[in-house]
Amino acid sequence: MSEQKIILTGDRPTGKLHLGHYVGSLAARVKLQDVHRQFVMIADAQALTDHAHEPALIRSSIMEVALDYLAVGIDPRKTTIFIQSLVPALAELTMYYLNLVTWNRLKHNPTVKLEIQQKGYGEEVPAGFMIYPISQAADITAFKASIVPVGDDQIPMIEQTVEVVRKFNRLYKTDVLVEPQAVTSTLARLPGIDGKAKMSKSLGNAIFLSDPADVVAKKVKGMYTDPGHLKVEDPGKVEGNPVFTYLDAFGKDKAKIDEMKAHYARGGLGDSVVKKYLLDVLQEFLEPIRKRREEFAKDPGAVMQMLKQGTEAANKKANQTLTEVRSAMGIDYFSTRS
Ligand code: ATP
Ligand code: MG
Repeated sequence: MSEQKIILTGDRPTGKLHLGHYVGSLAARVKLQDVHRQFVMIADAQALTDHAHEPALIRSSIMEVALDYLAVGIDPRKTTIFIQSLVPALAELTMYYLNLVTWNRLKHNPTVKLEIQQKGYGEEVPAGFMIYPISQAADITAFKASIVPVGDDQIPMIEQTVEVVRKFNRLYKTDVLVEPQAVTSTLARLPGIDGKAKMSKSLGNAIFLSDPADVVAKKVKGMYTDPGHLKVEDPGKVEGNPVFTYLDAFGKDKAKIDEMKAHYARGGLGDSVVKKYLLDVLQEFLEPIRKRREEFAKDPGAVMQMLKQGTEAANKKANQTLTEVRSAMGIDYFSTRS
């Protein structure tokens, strides 16, 4: 039997979860919860770094994200699900870690740079947003996580965390903090229905796990395909065509998909036929998730109770790490030392 490891992942409650979350992270969590000790965080404090003006959205999305978790099979008996802002040790750790990283280093984080551009912040970027990679370092290290299953946009964050861990342990001559490793799935970045590189809650190009059947149908119908594939008999491009990327991610009949790809590439297969098949595949995948979600949604009180219990357990673990951190730093003023 493999050694039990600690896992931390999370999502920002900025809306409902989508197919990208499923392939990038949720699917791995459902499997890993049987083998390892898993913490899943609803990152509301992080969401506020670029949604300070929308606390109501954050509040309502906490329930939506929790329902999405339960619907895909994240099981609170195996996984500790908690709310970030209700674990104050995370904010305190962030304060200490911020002193171990330079402003220049923060400015060069490639994901943050891209997001600043996408959000059109320029120099007017909220300071909290600039430092969110350090708050992620606090989240990961508080739980002593060694594995972080994420989409590939998060790899620079894990690199940043490793730097913080090394610096902290070296500076304070300790081994209190654990170096994490990012684990990405084979499909670490699902494109949007508009063909853009990443399906994202905030880019308006997502199919949500909770979308009703008719909404999914409409989205699939309007999906971006090969813009050069004008007539059915024209050869079409499979590479970079999100319709085929989704089929690869969610289709079970690999032989049929390969055959469709070949047909599309040589010409004679219409986009509407491929989309019709994709729709069948997605409906089959989403229907059971939708049903389970509806069941859990009938009792929001029970969901909140589950989050409350998870948050209590998370506080225990994070406070323990915080005590060790303060002691390693020698700022545990009231404890007696020899
Ligand atoms: P936002 O637009 O608010 O940033 P998001 O859609 O990027 O939302 P996050 O909550 O930031 O979602 O991401 C949570 C996790 O899901 C991260 O591990 C991220 O890498 C992963 N993820 C998000 N979108 C995708 C995607 N399209 N493909 C693969 N993984 C993804
Ligand atoms: Mg994101």
